[in-house]
Amino acid sequence: MNKMVITCAVCGAETTRAHNPNLPLTPEEIAIATYDAYLAGASIVHLHVRDENGGPTQDPEVFKKAIRLIREKCDIVIEITTGGAVGMTDDERLLVVQELQPEMASLDCGTVNFGNDYIVNTLPTMRRFAKEMIKYNVRPTLECFDISHIQAADILIKEGLLSPPYYYGFVMNVPCAVRYDVETLRFFVNRIPKGSLWTVMGVGSACLPAHYGALAVGGGFIRVGFEDNVYYTKGVLAESNAQLVARTAKISRDAGLEIATPADVREMFQLKGIN
Ligand code: ZN
Repeated sequence: MNKMVITCAVCGAETTRAHNPNLPLTPEEIAIATYDAYLAGASIVHLHVRDENGGPTQDPEVFKKAIRLIREKCDIVIEITTGGAVGMTDDERLLVVQELQPEMASLDCGTVNFGNDYIVNTLPTMRRFAKEMIKYNVRPTLECFDISHIQAADILIKEGLLSPPYYYGFVMNVPCAVRYDVETLRFFVNRIPKGSLWTVMGVGSACLPAHYGALAVGGGFIRVGFEDNVYYTKGVLAESNAQLVARTAKISRDAGLEIATPADVREMFQLKGIN
């Protein structure tokens, strides 16, 4: 039976309580939200943390605290962001890989407009991040916001800076980046190396369509969570990250898929295991 890997991005960097009052912010809240998402079927948590004012931070000490609290509860695979937040330096963003050496980390594969903001990832930045991830045996999630980002990942592969199995995260429907539709998703999937793993995150109103898109295209995984979308349905805020995960798990089971456990992910993605 094919397995569905559900990633939950519980808070992100830019989502606020004004968007959804149920947003977890402190390490304690993030750990509880992660555990609830795990119980609902998530096997990977995409982790950001916040400072005492609720703003984004890449402080390894805050990550350490959140990770310790998550580890007291479950063995979910932890994927730490290296995207950080708008305006952070490369050094700041990369520190979590060097200090925490997680099983997985995101690796943004290009520069992209993000509504009125933008995030910058030059090829030298990507090379540097990929090299550090190889050094610490961290499996990167190759986040692609645009088709050109797949081509940037191709360059990293050619240069020997990535090792298989390659894992892509297609971020679709970011305002001012690529829109979500199933044809575009299929177009992306057809352009990654055969045998690669991939997940899709539909931002905002594309959340649910992207789930069905992953199932329609076949072989894809799904990411949900308040980082990408705070609504359960149009105009109705989600009660929790776990509520979104539970729906994804149900849709996947209805489609005949088994929900992957963290152990399944460690095997499929060839992860080094909990350190
Ligand atoms: Zn993120």
